[in-house]
Amino acid sequence: MNFINTSKINYCKRCLYSSLHPLGLILDEEGICSGCRVHEEKNFLDWDIRWKKLQQLTSSYKVNNGKTYDCIVPVTGGNDSYYILHIVKKRLGLNPLLVTYNKYFNTPLGIRNLANLRIRFNCDILFQNVNPESVKKITRSTLREFGSIYWPCLAGQSVFPVQIAVKFKIPLIIWGAHQGLEQVGMFSHENDVEMTRWYRKNHDLLGREADDLLSIFDTLNEDDIWQYRYPDDASLNSIGVRGIYLGNYVRWDPKAQHELMIKEYGYLAARFNRTFDTYDHVDCYNFMFLHDWLKYIKHGYSKVTDHACREIRHGRLTRSHASFLVEKYQKQPVLHIDKFCEWLNIKHSSLNFILNTHKNPNFHFDNSYYSSKLLEKNRFNSPIETEELSFLSHSKLDDDEESRYVTIGKGYP
Ligand SMILES: [Zn+2]
Repeated sequence: MNFINTSKINYCKRCLYSSLHPLGLILDEEGICSGCRVHEEKNFLDWDIRWKKLQQLTSSYKVNNGKTYDCIVPVTGGNDSYYILHIVKKRLGLNPLLVTYNKYFNTPLGIRNLANLRIRFNCDILFQNVNPESVKKITRSTLREFGSIYWPCLAGQSVFPVQIAVKFKIPLIIWGAHQGLEQVGMFSHENDVEMTRWYRKNHDLLGREADDLLSIFDTLNEDDIWQYRYPDDASLNSIGVRGIYLGNYVRWDPKAQHELMIKEYGYLAARFNRTFDTYDHVDCYNFMFLHDWLKYIKHGYSKVTDHACREIRHGRLTRSHASFLVEKYQKQPVLHIDKFCEWLNIKHSSLNFILNTHKNPNFHFDNSYYSSKLLEKNRFNSPIETEELSFLSHSKLDDDEESRYVTIGKGYP
Protein backbone atom coordinates (compact mmCIF):
# COMPACT_ATOMS: atom_id res chain seq x y z
CA MET A 1 0.00 0.00 0.00
CA ASN A 2 1.44 3.38 -1.00
CA PHE A 3 1.17 6.05 1.64
CA ILE A 4 -0.05 9.42 0.50
CA ASN A 5 -0.42 12.76 2.14
CA THR A 6 -4.20 13.06 2.32
CA SER A 7 -4.02 16.80 3.05
CA LYS A 8 -2.63 17.24 -0.47
CA ILE A 9 -5.38 15.37 -2.32
CA ASN A 10 -6.82 17.54 -5.07
CA TYR A 11 -10.59 17.71 -5.35
CA CYS A 12 -12.64 18.77 -8.33
CA LYS A 13 -14.00 22.27 -7.80
CA ARG A 14 -17.40 21.31 -9.21
CA CYS A 15 -18.13 17.77 -7.93
CA LEU A 16 -16.79 15.83 -4.93
CA TYR A 17 -14.40 13.41 -6.65
CA SER A 18 -10.66 13.63 -6.08
CA SER A 19 -7.66 12.63 -8.15
CA LEU A 20 -7.61 9.39 -6.12
CA HIS A 21 -10.73 8.02 -7.85
CA PRO A 22 -9.94 4.34 -8.50
CA LEU A 23 -11.06 4.57 -12.14
CA GLY A 24 -8.53 7.37 -12.73
CA LEU A 25 -9.52 11.02 -13.05
CA ILE A 26 -7.79 14.11 -14.42
CA LEU A 27 -8.18 17.67 -13.11
CA ASP A 28 -7.72 20.42 -15.70
CA GLU A 29 -6.09 23.84 -15.21
CA GLU A 30 -9.39 25.24 -13.89
CA GLY A 31 -9.59 22.47 -11.30
CA ILE A 32 -12.54 20.75 -13.00
CA CYS A 33 -12.40 16.96 -13.35
CA SER A 34 -12.60 14.94 -16.54
CA GLY A 35 -15.94 13.44 -15.37
CA CYS A 36 -17.51 16.89 -15.08
CA ARG A 37 -16.06 17.94 -18.45
CA VAL A 38 -17.44 14.91 -20.27
CA HIS A 39 -20.77 15.47 -18.50
CA GLU A 40 -20.90 18.93 -20.14
CA GLU A 41 -21.24 17.11 -23.47
CA LYS A 42 -24.74 16.09 -22.38
CA ASN A 43 -25.76 19.73 -22.75
CA PHE A 44 -24.27 20.50 -26.16
CA LEU A 45 -24.32 17.25 -28.15
CA ASP A 46 -27.07 16.95 -30.74
CA TRP A 47 -28.95 14.02 -29.23
CA ASP A 48 -31.23 13.69 -32.28
CA ILE A 49 -28.18 12.91 -34.38
CA ARG A 50 -26.87 10.51 -31.71
CA TRP A 51 -30.28 8.77 -31.65
CA LYS A 52 -30.32 8.36 -35.43
CA LYS A 53 -26.86 6.83 -35.22
CA LEU A 54 -28.19 4.30 -32.69
CA GLN A 55 -31.21 3.50 -34.88
CA GLN A 56 -28.94 2.95 -37.85
CA LEU A 57 -26.53 0.78 -35.88
CA THR A 58 -29.20 -1.45 -34.35
CA SER A 59 -31.43 -1.76 -37.43
CA SER A 60 -28.78 -3.87 -39.15
CA TYR A 61 -29.19 -6.46 -36.36
CA LYS A 62 -32.96 -6.87 -36.80
CA VAL A 63 -33.63 -10.46 -37.79
CA ASN A 64 -37.35 -10.15 -38.66
CA ASN A 65 -37.91 -13.88 -39.13
CA GLY A 66 -39.66 -14.52 -35.81
CA LYS A 67 -37.30 -17.39 -35.07
CA THR A 68 -34.55 -15.76 -33.06
CA TYR A 69 -33.65 -12.60 -31.15
CA ASP A 70 -32.26 -9.29 -32.41
CA CYS A 71 -30.07 -8.66 -29.38
CA ILE A 72 -29.27 -9.53 -25.77
CA VAL A 73 -30.13 -7.24 -22.87
CA PRO A 74 -28.58 -7.99 -19.44
CA VAL A 75 -31.07 -7.15 -16.69
CA THR A 76 -31.49 -7.15 -12.91
CA GLY A 77 -34.31 -6.19 -10.55
CA GLY A 78 -32.68 -2.78 -10.00
CA ASN A 79 -30.61 -0.07 -11.64
CA ASP A 80 -31.36 0.93 -15.21
CA SER A 81 -32.86 -2.34 -16.52
CA TYR A 82 -36.36 -0.93 -17.12
CA TYR A 83 -35.10 2.08 -19.02
CA ILE A 84 -32.71 0.04 -21.17
CA LEU A 85 -35.58 -2.23 -22.12
CA HIS A 86 -37.88 0.73 -22.72
CA ILE A 87 -35.35 2.05 -25.27
CA VAL A 88 -34.57 -1.33 -26.82
CA LYS A 89 -38.05 -2.75 -27.14
CA LYS A 90 -40.44 0.19 -27.22
CA ARG A 91 -38.40 2.84 -29.00
CA LEU A 92 -36.01 0.84 -31.20
CA GLY A 93 -38.51 -1.96 -31.84
CA LEU A 94 -35.99 -4.73 -31.23
CA ASN A 95 -36.83 -8.21 -29.97
CA PRO A 96 -34.39 -8.83 -27.11
CA LEU A 97 -33.44 -11.94 -25.17
CA LEU A 98 -33.08 -10.91 -21.53
CA VAL A 99 -30.35 -12.52 -19.44
CA THR A 100 -29.81 -12.27 -15.72
CA TYR A 101 -27.09 -13.59 -13.43
CA ASN A 102 -28.31 -14.59 -9.97
CA LYS A 103 -26.13 -12.79 -7.43
CA TYR A 104 -27.74 -14.57 -4.43
CA PHE A 105 -28.07 -11.40 -2.31
CA ASN A 106 -31.53 -10.73 -3.75
CA THR A 107 -34.14 -8.66 -1.95
CA PRO A 108 -37.85 -9.50 -2.33
CA LEU A 109 -38.23 -6.13 -4.05
CA GLY A 110 -35.56 -7.02 -6.62
CA ILE A 111 -37.28 -10.34 -7.36
CA ARG A 112 -40.57 -8.48 -7.78
CA ASN A 113 -39.06 -5.80 -10.03
CA LEU A 114 -37.46 -8.41 -12.28
CA ALA A 115 -40.66 -10.45 -12.58
CA ASN A 116 -42.68 -7.32 -13.30
CA LEU A 117 -40.14 -6.28 -15.95
CA ARG A 118 -40.36 -9.65 -17.71
CA ILE A 119 -44.17 -9.46 -17.76
CA ARG A 120 -44.65 -5.76 -18.57
CA PHE A 121 -42.20 -5.88 -21.48
CA ASN A 122 -43.31 -9.41 -22.45
CA CYS A 123 -39.81 -10.79 -23.06
CA ASP A 124 -38.08 -14.17 -22.94
CA ILE A 125 -35.47 -14.41 -20.20
CA LEU A 126 -32.59 -16.71 -19.26
CA PHE A 127 -31.38 -17.06 -15.67
CA GLN A 128 -27.96 -18.28 -14.68
CA ASN A 129 -27.66 -19.69 -11.19
CA VAL A 130 -24.13 -20.87 -10.41
CA ASN A 131 -24.03 -23.52 -7.68
CA PRO A 132 -23.91 -22.09 -4.15
CA GLU A 133 -20.74 -23.87 -3.04
CA SER A 134 -18.59 -22.40 -5.81
CA VAL A 135 -20.06 -18.93 -5.35
CA LYS A 136 -19.37 -19.06 -1.62
CA LYS A 137 -15.84 -20.42 -2.09
CA ILE A 138 -15.00 -17.60 -4.48
CA THR A 139 -16.65 -14.98 -2.25
CA ARG A 140 -14.69 -16.21 0.78
CA SER A 141 -11.42 -16.07 -1.19
CA THR A 142 -11.92 -12.67 -2.83
CA LEU A 143 -13.17 -11.15 0.43
CA ARG A 144 -10.04 -12.30 2.25
CA GLU A 145 -7.54 -11.36 -0.46
CA PHE A 146 -9.01 -8.35 -2.26
CA GLY A 147 -11.62 -7.13 0.23
CA SER A 148 -14.35 -7.82 -2.32
CA ILE A 149 -17.61 -9.69 -1.76
CA TYR A 150 -18.83 -8.68 -5.21
CA TRP A 151 -16.29 -10.31 -7.52
CA PRO A 152 -18.63 -13.23 -8.47
CA CYS A 153 -21.54 -10.81 -9.01
CA LEU A 154 -19.53 -8.50 -11.25
CA ALA A 155 -17.87 -11.37 -13.10
CA GLY A 156 -21.17 -13.20 -13.60
CA GLN A 157 -23.14 -10.13 -14.68
CA SER A 158 -20.49 -9.12 -17.18
CA VAL A 159 -19.75 -12.56 -18.65
CA PHE A 160 -23.06 -14.43 -18.80
CA PRO A 161 -24.47 -12.15 -21.55
CA VAL A 162 -21.30 -12.64 -23.61
CA GLN A 163 -21.41 -16.43 -23.21
CA ILE A 164 -25.06 -16.45 -24.31
CA ALA A 165 -24.24 -14.23 -27.30
CA VAL A 166 -21.76 -16.87 -28.46
CA LYS A 167 -23.94 -19.86 -27.63
CA PHE A 168 -27.12 -18.51 -29.28
CA LYS A 169 -25.23 -16.69 -32.07
CA ILE A 170 -26.78 -13.30 -31.18
CA PRO A 171 -24.02 -10.77 -31.91
CA LEU A 172 -25.44 -7.59 -30.33
CA ILE A 173 -25.46 -6.96 -26.56
CA ILE A 174 -27.01 -3.71 -25.33
CA TRP A 175 -25.88 -2.20 -22.01
CA GLY A 176 -26.97 1.01 -20.26
CA ALA A 177 -24.37 3.67 -19.46
CA HIS A 178 -20.60 3.15 -19.34
CA GLN A 179 -19.40 3.66 -15.77
CA GLY A 180 -15.95 4.92 -16.80
CA LEU A 181 -17.53 7.57 -19.01
CA GLU A 182 -20.25 8.63 -16.56
CA GLN A 183 -18.10 8.87 -13.43
CA VAL A 184 -14.65 9.98 -14.54
CA GLY A 185 -14.95 10.91 -18.21
CA MET A 186 -12.63 8.13 -19.34
CA PHE A 187 -14.10 8.54 -22.83
CA SER A 188 -16.15 11.11 -24.70
CA HIS A 189 -19.73 10.17 -25.69
CA GLU A 190 -18.57 10.64 -29.27
CA ASN A 191 -15.97 7.86 -28.93
CA ASP A 192 -18.92 5.40 -29.16
CA VAL A 193 -16.96 3.18 -26.77
CA GLU A 194 -18.00 -0.48 -26.74
CA MET A 195 -17.66 -3.44 -24.35
CA THR A 196 -14.15 -4.87 -24.03
CA ARG A 197 -12.48 -7.77 -22.28
CA TRP A 198 -9.83 -5.26 -21.10
CA TYR A 199 -12.23 -2.92 -19.26
CA ARG A 200 -14.05 -5.83 -17.67
CA LYS A 201 -10.85 -7.30 -16.28
CA ASN A 202 -9.16 -4.11 -15.17
CA HIS A 203 -12.09 -2.18 -13.76
CA ASP A 204 -14.99 -4.54 -13.07
CA LEU A 205 -12.89 -7.45 -11.82
CA LEU A 206 -10.07 -5.67 -9.94
CA GLY A 207 -7.58 -6.87 -12.55
CA ARG A 208 -8.31 -10.57 -11.94
CA GLU A 209 -9.95 -12.80 -14.53
CA ALA A 210 -11.46 -16.14 -13.58
CA ASP A 211 -8.26 -17.98 -14.52
CA ASP A 212 -6.16 -15.64 -12.38
CA LEU A 213 -8.13 -16.81 -9.34
CA LEU A 214 -6.87 -20.37 -9.90
CA SER A 215 -3.26 -19.30 -9.56
CA ILE A 216 -3.95 -17.03 -6.57
CA PHE A 217 -6.11 -19.39 -4.52
CA ASP A 218 -5.27 -23.06 -3.96
CA THR A 219 -8.77 -23.40 -2.49
CA LEU A 220 -10.41 -22.97 -5.90
CA ASN A 221 -10.61 -25.51 -8.71
CA GLU A 222 -11.44 -25.42 -12.39
CA ASP A 223 -15.03 -26.45 -11.67
CA ASP A 224 -15.48 -23.41 -9.41
CA ILE A 225 -14.45 -20.78 -11.93
CA TRP A 226 -15.26 -22.01 -15.44
CA GLN A 227 -18.70 -20.37 -15.43
CA TYR A 228 -16.99 -16.99 -15.10
CA ARG A 229 -14.58 -17.43 -18.01
CA TYR A 230 -14.83 -14.91 -20.86
CA PRO A 231 -15.23 -16.54 -24.30
CA ASP A 232 -12.05 -16.63 -26.39
CA ASP A 233 -11.43 -14.21 -29.25
CA ALA A 234 -11.97 -16.84 -31.95
CA SER A 235 -15.50 -17.55 -30.64
CA LEU A 236 -16.31 -13.85 -30.28
CA ASN A 237 -15.01 -13.01 -33.74
CA SER A 238 -16.79 -15.88 -35.46
CA ILE A 239 -20.16 -14.50 -34.24
CA GLY A 240 -19.09 -10.82 -34.40
CA VAL A 241 -20.07 -10.20 -30.78
CA ARG A 242 -20.15 -6.55 -29.77
CA GLY A 243 -21.60 -4.71 -26.77
CA ILE A 244 -22.83 -1.14 -27.10
CA TYR A 245 -23.74 1.42 -24.43
CA LEU A 246 -27.00 3.37 -24.72
CA GLY A 247 -25.49 6.26 -22.74
CA ASN A 248 -23.48 7.19 -25.85
CA TYR A 249 -26.66 7.76 -27.85
CA VAL A 250 -29.29 8.86 -25.32
CA ARG A 251 -28.82 11.73 -22.84
CA TRP A 252 -28.36 9.63 -19.71
CA ASP A 253 -30.09 10.85 -16.54
CA PRO A 254 -30.82 7.98 -14.12
CA LYS A 255 -33.07 9.99 -11.78
CA ALA A 256 -35.38 11.23 -14.53
CA GLN A 257 -35.32 7.80 -16.21
CA HIS A 258 -36.29 5.91 -13.06
CA GLU A 259 -39.13 8.32 -12.38
CA LEU A 260 -40.48 7.70 -15.87
CA MET A 261 -40.16 3.93 -15.33
CA ILE A 262 -42.05 4.14 -12.02
CA LYS A 263 -44.86 5.96 -13.80
CA GLU A 264 -44.97 3.93 -17.00
CA TYR A 265 -44.13 0.39 -15.90
CA GLY A 266 -44.45 0.18 -12.12
CA TYR A 267 -40.77 0.00 -11.17
CA LEU A 268 -40.56 0.10 -7.36
CA ALA A 269 -37.91 2.05 -5.43
CA ALA A 270 -36.62 1.68 -1.87
CA ARG A 271 -35.07 3.78 0.85
CA PHE A 272 -31.54 3.00 2.10
CA ASN A 273 -29.81 4.35 5.17
CA ARG A 274 -26.47 4.89 3.37
CA THR A 275 -27.59 7.06 0.45
CA PHE A 276 -30.37 9.40 -0.62
CA ASP A 277 -30.82 7.68 -4.01
CA THR A 278 -33.77 5.29 -3.81
CA TYR A 279 -33.56 3.89 -7.35
CA ASP A 280 -30.21 2.08 -7.74
CA HIS A 281 -29.46 -1.39 -6.37
CA VAL A 282 -32.83 -2.00 -4.69
CA ASP A 283 -32.38 -5.66 -5.71
CA CYS A 284 -29.40 -6.31 -3.41
CA TYR A 285 -28.92 -6.61 0.36
CA ASN A 286 -25.19 -5.94 0.06
CA PHE A 287 -24.46 -3.39 -2.62
CA MET A 288 -25.43 -0.38 -0.51
CA PHE A 289 -24.37 -2.01 2.76
CA LEU A 290 -21.35 -4.34 3.19
CA HIS A 291 -20.09 -3.83 -0.38
CA ASP A 292 -20.46 -0.07 0.08
CA TRP A 293 -18.59 -0.21 3.37
CA LEU A 294 -15.69 -2.05 1.72
CA LYS A 295 -15.59 0.68 -0.95
CA TYR A 296 -15.45 3.25 1.83
CA ILE A 297 -12.63 1.68 3.83
CA LYS A 298 -10.56 0.87 0.74
CA HIS A 299 -11.06 4.04 -1.29
CA GLY A 300 -12.12 6.65 1.26
CA TYR A 301 -15.55 7.31 -0.20
CA SER A 302 -18.79 5.40 -0.63
CA LYS A 303 -21.62 5.15 -3.14
CA VAL A 304 -23.39 8.22 -1.81
CA THR A 305 -20.48 10.26 -3.23
CA ASP A 306 -21.18 8.79 -6.69
CA HIS A 307 -24.85 9.70 -6.32
CA ALA A 308 -24.00 13.20 -5.07
CA CYS A 309 -21.53 13.89 -7.89
CA ARG A 310 -24.10 12.78 -10.44
CA GLU A 311 -26.76 15.06 -8.94
CA ILE A 312 -24.35 18.04 -8.81
CA ARG A 313 -23.56 17.55 -12.50
CA HIS A 314 -27.25 17.40 -13.40
CA GLY A 315 -27.72 20.67 -11.50
CA ARG A 316 -30.03 19.26 -8.82
CA LEU A 317 -27.63 19.60 -5.87
CA THR A 318 -25.18 22.31 -4.87
CA ARG A 319 -21.65 21.22 -3.99
CA SER A 320 -22.09 22.27 -0.35
CA HIS A 321 -25.42 20.47 0.07
CA ALA A 322 -23.85 17.40 -1.57
CA SER A 323 -20.92 17.51 0.89
CA PHE A 324 -23.33 17.65 3.78
CA LEU A 325 -25.26 14.63 2.48
CA VAL A 326 -22.09 12.60 1.88
CA GLU A 327 -20.76 13.35 5.34
CA LYS A 328 -24.07 12.28 6.83
CA TYR A 329 -24.77 9.11 4.86
CA GLN A 330 -21.33 7.53 4.55
CA LYS A 331 -21.13 7.18 8.32
CA GLN A 332 -24.41 5.36 8.72
CA PRO A 333 -24.25 1.80 10.06
CA VAL A 334 -24.00 -1.14 7.73
CA LEU A 335 -27.14 -3.23 7.95
CA HIS A 336 -27.91 -6.80 6.85
CA ILE A 337 -24.55 -8.10 8.10
CA ASP A 338 -26.30 -11.00 9.87
CA LYS A 339 -27.64 -12.25 6.56
CA PHE A 340 -24.20 -12.22 4.99
CA CYS A 341 -22.52 -14.01 7.91
CA GLU A 342 -25.20 -16.68 7.92
CA TRP A 343 -25.01 -17.14 4.13
CA LEU A 344 -21.22 -17.44 4.08
CA ASN A 345 -21.08 -19.30 7.41
CA ILE A 346 -18.61 -16.84 8.89
CA LYS A 347 -18.53 -15.34 12.40
CA HIS A 348 -19.01 -11.61 12.92
CA SER A 349 -15.61 -11.45 14.59
CA SER A 350 -13.91 -13.10 11.59
CA LEU A 351 -15.63 -10.72 9.20
CA ASN A 352 -14.60 -7.79 11.35
CA PHE A 353 -11.00 -9.03 11.36
CA ILE A 354 -10.98 -9.30 7.56
CA LEU A 355 -12.53 -5.84 7.16
CA ASN A 356 -9.79 -4.39 9.35
CA THR A 357 -7.06 -5.88 7.17
CA HIS A 358 -8.49 -4.06 4.15
CA LYS A 359 -8.76 -0.67 5.78
CA ASN A 360 -6.69 1.80 3.77
CA PRO A 361 -4.28 3.51 6.21
CA ASN A 362 -4.28 6.61 4.01
CA PHE A 363 -7.76 7.47 5.21
CA HIS A 364 -8.73 8.22 8.77
CA PHE A 365 -11.82 6.51 10.00
CA ASP A 366 -13.74 7.11 13.15
CA ASN A 367 -13.89 3.64 14.62
CA SER A 368 -16.80 4.54 16.84
CA TYR A 369 -19.19 3.90 13.96
CA TYR A 370 -17.07 1.12 12.52
CA SER A 371 -15.69 -2.03 14.18
CA SER A 372 -17.87 -2.66 17.19
CA LYS A 373 -21.10 -0.87 16.44
CA LEU A 374 -21.00 -1.75 12.78
CA LEU A 375 -21.61 -5.41 13.34
CA GLU A 376 -24.34 -4.99 15.84
CA LYS A 377 -27.92 -4.26 14.96
CA ASN A 378 -27.50 -0.56 14.87
CA ARG A 379 -30.50 1.31 13.55
CA PHE A 380 -30.72 4.43 11.51
CA ASN A 381 -32.77 7.09 13.23
CA SER A 382 -31.87 10.32 11.50
CA PRO A 383 -34.40 12.22 9.44
CA ILE A 384 -34.52 11.02 5.86
CA GLU A 385 -33.36 13.42 3.17
CA THR A 386 -34.90 11.58 0.26
CA GLU A 387 -38.18 13.46 0.31
CA GLU A 388 -36.38 16.77 0.34
CA LEU A 389 -34.46 15.67 -2.75
CA SER A 390 -37.67 14.34 -4.31
CA PHE A 391 -36.52 10.75 -4.72
CA LEU A 392 -39.57 8.50 -4.57
CA SER A 393 -39.64 5.30 -2.50
CA HIS A 394 -42.08 2.45 -2.04
CA SER A 395 -40.24 0.33 0.49
CA LYS A 396 -37.52 0.47 3.12
CA LEU A 397 -34.56 -1.86 2.66
CA ASP A 398 -33.18 -0.71 5.98
CA ASP A 399 -36.19 -2.07 7.78
CA ASP A 400 -36.34 -5.79 7.13
CA GLU A 401 -33.55 -7.19 9.27
CA GLU A 402 -35.37 -10.46 9.84
CA SER A 403 -35.66 -11.51 6.20
CA ARG A 404 -33.15 -13.61 4.24
CA TYR A 405 -31.64 -13.54 0.77
CA VAL A 406 -34.09 -14.79 -1.83
CA THR A 407 -32.10 -17.19 -4.02
CA ILE A 408 -34.96 -17.85 -6.41
CA GLY A 409 -38.21 -15.99 -5.92
CA LYS A 410 -41.65 -16.65 -7.25
CA GLY A 411 -42.93 -14.81 -10.28
CA TYR A 412 -45.31 -11.91 -10.10
CA PRO A 413 -48.19 -11.56 -9.61
ZN1 LIG B 1 -15.84 16.93 -11.14
